[in-house]
Amino acid sequence: MIDKPVRVRFAPSPTGFFHVGGARTALYNWLFAHRHNGKFILRIEDTDRLRYQEESEPDLISSLRWLGLDWDEGPEVGGDYGPYYQSQRLPLYAQYAAQLLAEGYAYKCFCSPERLAALRKEQRASKLSHTGYDRHCRNLTASQVSERESQGIQPVIRLRTPLEGQTSFHDVLRGTTTVDNETLEDIVLVKSDGYPTYHLANVIDDHLMEISHIMRGDEWLSSCPIHVILYHAFGWPIPPYIHLPLFLDPAGKGKMGKRKTVGPGGREYLVLVKDFGAAGYLPEALINFIARLGWSYDDHTELFTREELIVKFSPEGLNASPARFDYDRLDWMNGVYIRELASDDLAERLLPFYHRAGLNADLPTLQQLAPILQVRLKKLTDAIPLSGFVFEESFDLDPVLLVGKKMDARASLDALRRTRQIISQANPFAPDTLEQPLRDLASDLGIKAGSLFGILRGAVTGQQVSPPLFETMAIMGQKRTCQQIDRGIAVLQETANA
Ligand code: GLU
Repeated sequence: MIDKPVRVRFAPSPTGFFHVGGARTALYNWLFAHRHNGKFILRIEDTDRLRYQEESEPDLISSLRWLGLDWDEGPEVGGDYGPYYQSQRLPLYAQYAAQLLAEGYAYKCFCSPERLAALRKEQRASKLSHTGYDRHCRNLTASQVSERESQGIQPVIRLRTPLEGQTSFHDVLRGTTTVDNETLEDIVLVKSDGYPTYHLANVIDDHLMEISHIMRGDEWLSSCPIHVILYHAFGWPIPPYIHLPLFLDPAGKGKMGKRKTVGPGGREYLVLVKDFGAAGYLPEALINFIARLGWSYDDHTELFTREELIVKFSPEGLNASPARFDYDRLDWMNGVYIRELASDDLAERLLPFYHRAGLNADLPTLQQLAPILQVRLKKLTDAIPLSGFVFEESFDLDPVLLVGKKMDARASLDALRRTRQIISQANPFAPDTLEQPLRDLASDLGIKAGSLFGILRGAVTGQQVSPPLFETMAIMGQKRTCQQIDRGIAVLQETANA
């Protein structure tokens, strides 16, 4: 399959935010290029002016960079085969369209949008099996063409598909597909605004950019015969095709949506790359996860570093049937990757999440917190409910959490006062000097250590669940811990007096 320098491309249309399905297509191309010392090219297919969305390209670029899928040629980096925006290549397409016209592979069509709409309506009403353009202008004479042109009608250019015979193409994953040409339509190659359609521009660019393999989503399978006819018309060799199956939704029933949905228990099923980042997924985890959606190395290996993927990825491991996007699996994998981070790295990655939550977190404190948070996170965002209190000036204390198990408010108040004494005297103020004296206190009081720690946790963190208590107090410092306990004492006094 590899008989010339590998040059593969990812060719998105800027019509919306970058979808995780597109990310997988980009990833496979990127891996293939890296595996074979080839080039990964980013080409922006922006010829559909109606569907164009301005925010799309910046989102694409930042998402690809976040995922670490850098390109060797394309926007921002340039290259010898540019421009890499199709909207900047219009003269090229015009030149090739003129060639197709001159050689009879294409023709000008002057049908008005109204005529085409009426045609569609009529076809629908009579339930014709073969719909589409009726080739009205296919056999206009030269003088008919110039007459219409002199009337100022802007034509479109259509492909003159062969009416007989068959067109075949080979896909690495699916083998050979053959279609009867009579089932194909004379599709538009150049629109009346002078912009090429996807089909024409895509084929021309893949050829001119010397693309060696075409790996893309299988929504383009049905267009393939048209592309093949174009390649034949130009007399160009056809690169090997690999059409990748789409993702299935978490239930494995339907196609994965284009938009975020809400699943059972209010769980959000994200689909946009930017949303995964904002939800606290690590790019390396998302890369590993999507790499495995439709590709496997063997029957059991799940975890692959990027370097391992480069070495091990090959189209032979691709699966022709669609894979289910299992969010639980992704969460698990993300947790694995979080645990593997150096704790200072984790701290740096966590910092923006605290800031986004309006918390005035600082890096030195997070560097202390990171090791005790690390094993408790599936997503970076999990750190906020778990430890946000560390950076909060004041937060409400829940009286319920301040009363120990099988204890009343008075007994809890007494326990907390004596706890404060120990804590304020601990020297140095460190987990080692705190735990044993407090365990001794619990046995003096005839209560379980767990009950005492529960009261203390309620006062210091305001929560029932927190990172390990003694480490957390050490990070918060003696003064702040005592202040928190004082607030707990005040709340308990009120409760006891009520
Ligand atoms: N512009 C097409 C898209 O957005 C690219 C299809 C292809 O890779 O050929 O999916």
